Amino acid sequence: MASESSSADAAASGGVVTRFAPSPTGFLHIGGARTALFNWLYARHHGGRTLLRIEDTDRKRSTQEAIDAIIEGLDWLGLDYDAPPLFQSDRAERHAEVAWQLLNAGHAYKCFATPEELEAMREEQRANKKPLRYDGRWRDRDPAEAPEGAPFTIRLRTPNEGETTIHDRVQGAVTVKNEEIDDYIILRADGTPTYMLAVVVDDHDMGVTHVIRGDDHLNNAFRQLPIIRAMNQIEGNWPDPVYAHIPLIHGSDGAKLSKRHGALGVEAYRDEFGILPEALFNYLLRLGWGHGDREEITRAEAVELFDLDGVGKSPSRFDMKKLENLNGHYLREADDMRLAALVAARIGEEADVTLLARAMPELKVRAKNLNDLVEGSAFLFAKRPIALTDKAAQILEGEARNILRTICERLRGENDWTSETLEATTKALAEELGLGLGKLAQPMRAALTGTTTSPGIFDVLVLLGRDEALARLDAQAA
Ligand code: GLU
Repeated sequence: MASESSSADAAASGGVVTRFAPSPTGFLHIGGARTALFNWLYARHHGGRTLLRIEDTDRKRSTQEAIDAIIEGLDWLGLDYDAPPLFQSDRAERHAEVAWQLLNAGHAYKCFATPEELEAMREEQRANKKPLRYDGRWRDRDPAEAPEGAPFTIRLRTPNEGETTIHDRVQGAVTVKNEEIDDYIILRADGTPTYMLAVVVDDHDMGVTHVIRGDDHLNNAFRQLPIIRAMNQIEGNWPDPVYAHIPLIHGSDGAKLSKRHGALGVEAYRDEFGILPEALFNYLLRLGWGHGDREEITRAEAVELFDLDGVGKSPSRFDMKKLENLNGHYLREADDMRLAALVAARIGEEADVTLLARAMPELKVRAKNLNDLVEGSAFLFAKRPIALTDKAAQILEGEARNILRTICERLRGENDWTSETLEATTKALAEELGLGLGKLAQPMRAALTGTTTSPGIFDVLVLLGRDEALARLDAQAA
């Protein structure tokens, strides 16, 4: 008796519905964000719907803080949902209802085994080096044999013979012997549903057609399918979903991704590393999905191009350098006023958004993240006397201060404070002095910015404005 997951394109019968179902026991980490992205893209690509379900049934480990961080992280990445989030914990009654339906139809049964009996069973299995599984001791027993009022769990009557094949859209055909799936608990003795039941009932009630999730859930699919099929026998209209189990993300050294590799919440990429959402979106897309060699893919293109066929079977490696390179690309593409606002928020009160926006075309050329922009723009808001880096101080040793005096006097006579005029004037002076332009520009940069790297020196003069620029030059001139 082989049973195949039909993978019958449920899409045909009413449109694609995907869902992201995070457990709010931690923040939205990079792997979860990618799962969310793939679900979102698949639905958007097929003109379907995508839903969010917060799997908060583990009340002890779920926190409001994590729920907020997940919702905020998804929002920041621009992943929107077609309905308000559904909270799994609100639906315990509905889950229990299905457990009772399965029981009443004979697809599940009451198990009166006590915790002690079950522990003894497992002890024996361990001793005999057998897999630890429920042995079906109440599967065919008459519940009347149980002591009056004894507590019971409800267990699913899973098929014992044959095998089940799932035609996974990423993993391909995967077959498991049915005897490997034990009669697991769907409703606990206290009447609460187990996670395995809750997922299946929620997916059905939400009309989910495609289950796209991490491949650490592939085993669960073989446990969840028997519930779906039993309910389909009872009610009809419980089709197998299409499964797509995507490989986990590994660190750059190939080991499973951990904090050390950057398995942080997306807010860390936003706040600590200064990554733009479109860069993380693009990076996560490329992490496990490919379209030829293209690295830079916009949101609109992603929606147009994404499909499960492009998702690879092997784990992808997280690479911070690649993320930063993409981020540099998106910084250069980004609107200057938007970047100025983001940088100003990081700098604090002394930041001048308008000035930042004017400086942005120059600043963003070299930047890989918002922190670089903060650093690069620091000279704009520095207060006199300007602190000098060691290198800048070195440049200002000896003759340089005399040169600065000459430059200062010449520029003071300049009324047309534009970068073209200032450049022409400085070049003329360099020629008069018989010096290369660098001999003038270096001390100017040191005096104006306190550093040895900055936007073009004439842009710096203009950005600072005549009075401030002359005052800074003056302060370092001999
Ligand atoms: N809540 C599960 C998780 O966060 C996902 C369950 C599912 O996608 O079926 O890993």
